[in-house]
Amino acid sequence: MERPLIDPVLEYNLRTVSDAMAKACTDSGRSPTDVRLLAVTKTVSADRINEAIALGVKQIGENRVQEYLGKKDSLHLDGVGRHLIGHLQTNKVRQIVGQVDMIQSIDSERLASAVSRVSVERGIVTPILVEVNIGGEEAKSGVSPDRLEELLEQIHDLPGIRVRGLMTVPPILTKEAEKRAIFSKMYQLFVDNRAKKLDNIDMVELSMGMSGDFVEAILEGSTIVRVGSAIFGERRYN
Ligand SMILES: *Cc1c(COP(=O)(O)O)cnc(C)c1O
Repeated sequence: MERPLIDPVLEYNLRTVSDAMAKACTDSGRSPTDVRLLAVTKTVSADRINEAIALGVKQIGENRVQEYLGKKDSLHLDGVGRHLIGHLQTNKVRQIVGQVDMIQSIDSERLASAVSRVSVERGIVTPILVEVNIGGEEAKSGVSPDRLEELLEQIHDLPGIRVRGLMTVPPILTKEAEKRAIFSKMYQLFVDNRAKKLDNIDMVELSMGMSGDFVEAILEGSTIVRVGSAIFGERRYN
């Protein structure tokens, strides 16, 4: 693969994020290999994503099915994990199943069943995370914490999907103690549901933490942080 020209700002940002992740791991007695960085590439051009991959990014996350499908053929995705992290509409399931390595935004039985059906048809198993609306916010997707257990019970036996853990986008909070409290609540849900040992569920991934709060998320047990603007700069929407 041809090495693209590298923007020193991108290189600096990636190093800064990786260093902060490593420090948060050390500070909380975790191994740096326990936490993976997923670079959130929504609105980012394929060239720039390829630069990030050349700099060592191993996981990417996109929000929109259409945007991802439009870019993917221009990406150097060898050895790179691809995640769908945005809200998924049932009518887009056919387009995305098989095109990503994990769907992180499953929040209803209906959606899980659709992914199950298409995966079975295609002879594959799609790893998924269940998205939890930990802050109980009206406008956000995700299952409410008190309905999580019920949803896991409804979907754990579906063929063609494999639950690998939980994902959350918490409310935007400014105080460190508040951020930690909400991540801690999420970690507790993760641990409680892991202890139930439902068949076909590997409760191993906890996807939480974004540019403004990934350090606090790691301190509270995150295994995947999803970082966009701290790597690529502020997003510009057209
Ligand atoms: C955009 C987005 C992110 C990354 O947000 P930043 O604040 O730019 O790091 C993470 N997760 C989801 C679900 C997103 O939509």
